[in-house]
Amino acid sequence: MPVVDTLARLVAEPSVSSEPMLGIAAIVAERCEAAGMRVERFPAPGEGKTNLVCSRGPAGTDGLVLSGHLDVVPVQGQPWTSDPFRLTARGDRLVGRGSADMKGFVAAVLEALPSLPRLERELVLVFTCDEEVGCLGSRALVERLAGRRLPRACLIGEPTGFRVQRMHPGHSAARIVCPGRAAHSSKPDLGDNAIRKAAKVIDALETLAEDWRRDIRFPELLERPFVVLNVATIEGGSAINIVPDRCVIEVGFRPLPGMMEEALVAQMRERIGALGTVELRPGAPAMFTPEGTALEVALRPYASAPGAGAVAFATDGGNLAQLGMAPLVFGPGSIDVAHKADEFVERGELERTVGVVGEIVARLCG
Ligand SMILES: [Zn+2]
Repeated sequence: MPVVDTLARLVAEPSVSSEPMLGIAAIVAERCEAAGMRVERFPAPGEGKTNLVCSRGPAGTDGLVLSGHLDVVPVQGQPWTSDPFRLTARGDRLVGRGSADMKGFVAAVLEALPSLPRLERELVLVFTCDEEVGCLGSRALVERLAGRRLPRACLIGEPTGFRVQRMHPGHSAARIVCPGRAAHSSKPDLGDNAIRKAAKVIDALETLAEDWRRDIRFPELLERPFVVLNVATIEGGSAINIVPDRCVIEVGFRPLPGMMEEALVAQMRERIGALGTVELRPGAPAMFTPEGTALEVALRPYASAPGAGAVAFATDGGNLAQLGMAPLVFGPGSIDVAHKADEFVERGELERTVGVVGEIVARLCG
């Protein structure tokens, strides 16, 4: 089947993170089985969620992992000019939700399978769910696969426009609850205003973010070489004539490699003091792979830029690294069009990826 048709089939399965995704998992599993792979399903939390691990070649040998997530972000409220779940060709562009992020890569992997040579070392395909909502699928998978010998080389085909990327910050969240005491608004002195406390909390967090901005790490790799913090949501108050008794703030922050998210939350707690309680929502860990791995060398001839850099977004790589993998991010399409209306991948890039995947597998597993 031409890779464009495979991509069209994958795009036609919406697989938005909030929805069950067994339909797309079945298509992918069937194609892997047809190519002679062993297919294991690892159900993940939530209804109709599964990760797939497909392997071929001698188990436990140090070949290659290819990984991609099967979920996509929603399309609601976006000005799509064609059906987002029907792959539409417009000149060189193949438009559809997930075409770049990252069903294009998944389609190219499936397409490369039938023509692979006999493998001397193991090829493992890791397809995850719920990547777009905090890498939840890969986190569940890490627990299930702990202790298993898996290849160290790992390629995550997120859209990087064929640049090789070896690092990214993590992404975690904290939920801060500011308690108060309700009172009639005509006698505000009898209450304790939770929104006023939240305002002080936000100030304290901004001061903390300024301190973090001065703590420079990895300046050679990152555009923002420090821990980034964003006050993302706020909710409080119930009526104009009531002193609010509760205000909740959600904060996103991006730990750098080597940092513990708990330690960063501890700093928030210290700054906030009695103004509120802070609860950590664990997220996607940072990823850091040393320079010059065998996979990086193998990818060089196909890379659109020299060297291996960093991306700002989080991937499953942070979780997969906990299984002993050294992930690199490299794939067709641009992150600039991902998550937006009329997301696309270029036909030429997609078709080229099939060849690249075949050659990389032959090199690392042949
Ligand atoms: Zn992605």
